[in-house]
Amino acid sequence: MQDFLGYEKEKNNFSRYYEHLPHLPHPPHPPHPPHLPHPPHLPQPPHLPHLPQPPHLPHLPQPPHLPDPDYETIKKAIFTAVAGVFEQLPSLTMTKTAVIIDGKAVAEKIQGQLRSQVEALVQKASRPPGLAVLMVGDNPASAAYVRNKERSCGKVGIASYGRHFPKETTQEELMEAIAELNEDDRVDGILVQLPLPNHLDMVAAINHIHPDKDVDGLHPVNLGRLMRGEPGLCSCTPAGVMALLREYGIDPKGKQATIVGRSILVGKPIALMLLAADATVTMAHSRSPDLGAITRNADILVVAVGRPELITGDMVKPGAVVIDVGINRVTDYEGKSRLTGDVNYDSATHVAGFITPVPGGVGPMTVTLLLQNTVESYIRRLGLG
Ligand code: NAD
Repeated sequence: MQDFLGYEKEKNNFSRYYEHLPHLPHPPHPPHPPHLPHPPHLPQPPHLPHLPQPPHLPHLPQPPHLPDPDYETIKKAIFTAVAGVFEQLPSLTMTKTAVIIDGKAVAEKIQGQLRSQVEALVQKASRPPGLAVLMVGDNPASAAYVRNKERSCGKVGIASYGRHFPKETTQEELMEAIAELNEDDRVDGILVQLPLPNHLDMVAAINHIHPDKDVDGLHPVNLGRLMRGEPGLCSCTPAGVMALLREYGIDPKGKQATIVGRSILVGKPIALMLLAADATVTMAHSRSPDLGAITRNADILVVAVGRPELITGDMVKPGAVVIDVGINRVTDYEGKSRLTGDVNYDSATHVAGFITPVPGGVGPMTVTLLLQNTVESYIRRLGLG
């Protein structure tokens, strides 16, 4: 092949050049490194003594078989712990509490005044005031109320002419008993303990009581007198609420008063009484939407519903007067039975200016106003005023 690049020629020139260089001597061998001495023999490590065997541990007894977890107990324990924390919260975050309207103390005071009044009146009249409470059936709550009424009568010097009928009592028998009491001159007040057994007509029975002896204030004549602003016997619970307001210097004049509940027994009469005392009255009931928006406007809030703790603190206007008429028996998470109102006392007491507790608020006033109505009827009938 032709040497286009001149490569073969250049290679031959190079070889020729090296052929003429002298031979260089071999470099000397490097010296052997010196022999290092063997390291000394290290002594054998001493034999360690044999350690004693660890003692045999006694066999532990088997743990007892635990019963299956009792979820109710665990739930209650958790509930108690959580409730404890929540009970502390108000005292940690909110310190203000409302003035407690002490119905028991006011009731005792009025009953003391009634006793003195009766003692004085009996000197002038030939007999003491008399009250007849009629009870039909064996409702234990009603029986307790009747006993309480008769005991309270005894304390202020009112004679009791109460009658207890079996639950099979007919309407005619009940009407006859009421008619007899209407004619009985020793009797100034007649009250039919409610509720009656289902087969009896409550309205007919109440309407049969002579209006001047209707110390429960439920006869249409007395409700009509209240509506017209005429003197008459007033329903005891609403009259008791008004007495509490008076006692604590709370004047409803010009105030926004809201009543939750529209029953003939409480809601409607209290609305008429607050109206007569110049309050601006609003009534709310089971069909009122957004109850909180209504109750938050109230300077005086009266609750008579029969639903445990329906009204909570956030539904109360700051500084309002809260009157809790409700009496509800509830069973708590520990299975204990207790009375509670229609207002959640623990939350409302940090918002309200005044509040009634349950029990010990309106309840003691109801029986006291019954005694007062009986004495009023006695005075009017015997012309002692
Ligand atoms: P009621 O059942 O005759 O009337 C209840 C009223 O509450 C009704 O007008 C109803 O419209 C209203 N209501 C029901 N659910 C409602 C809700 N979710 N929101 C708003 N309103 C509602 O009862 P009552 O005879 O007026 O008694 C009410 C409560 O007062 C009961 O707890 C009763 O035991 C108690 N009470 C106490 C005394 C006392 O001496 N302290 C006396 C009478 C009644």
